[in-house]
Amino acid sequence: MDDKKILDFIENALKNNYKYDEAALMKFDGEEFLELFTLLILRVDSREMELKDMINSLEERVSIRTRELEDKNIILQELATIDKLTGLYNRRYFDEKLAEYSRLALRMKHCMSCIMTDIDYFKKFNDTYGHQAGDYVLNKVAGILRTNARVTDICARYGGEEFVILLPNTPIENAVLFAERIIAKTKAAEYQYHGEILKVTCSLGVAAGRNNDSLFDNLVKNADDALYRAKQSGRNCVMKMN
Ligand code: GH3
Ligand code: MG
Ligand code: MG
Repeated sequence: MDDKKILDFIENALKNNYKYDEAALMKFDGEEFLELFTLLILRVDSREMELKDMINSLEERVSIRTRELEDKNIILQELATIDKLTGLYNRRYFDEKLAEYSRLALRMKHCMSCIMTDIDYFKKFNDTYGHQAGDYVLNKVAGILRTNARVTDICARYGGEEFVILLPNTPIENAVLFAERIIAKTKAAEYQYHGEILKVTCSLGVAAGRNNDSLFDNLVKNADDALYRAKQSGRNCVMKMN
């Protein structure tokens, strides 16, 4: 039997996507014909196995790459929205949520409150105990905000030692109660740092808006004005917008 003839025939068939030349096929005798088909089937089978292996390994590589990209996306998302020192949201994220929640509150005719908080005499604290002790306390105060807020509240670091909390669907009276709880817990907390027990207090300003574009636009400013008055009134207290 002419091996070369058979192999050429098979190669041709494979090259043409398993289509074979009928006229060429007729030139094989019965025994060759049988052998040809056995070989052709074996070749097709092994080609299929090869292709399946290639597909499996490609699929595996794609799914590993997808998982890597998903992990990187989560990290990027965190870097873009979370403040590194405190683990609270950053100001950029807060601003986004403020706009989104304001639209929702207007549509649902819900009330929304905002609290600005600022640690008292923090410059002096840093000067006395060091910047690292200051960082430690900032992180702890952020923890007090986080653990006392509702899951729907947005707690963010607004600036250096200033935090802001957005309380959707919350009237000002309830926001004031929340602010008073924060002030009491911050004051009562003992921050143990390198064997020393450190204490701080904070001042808070509360504002609210309902069904009014300009009140929502000025929510942070109104809370900030109230905070200013809290500082003017001797600190370690809560003031609400007029
Ligand atoms: P007031 O009661 O009026 O708020 O006084 P204050 O000293 O807290 O306010 P001031 O604005 O004069 O100072 C804020 C201080 O907060 C100064 C700065 O060193 C400190 N601060 C800001 N960001 C950080 C930070 O990331 N880590 C630490 N340790 N301190 C910070
Ligand atoms: Mg400040
Ligand atoms: Mg301060």
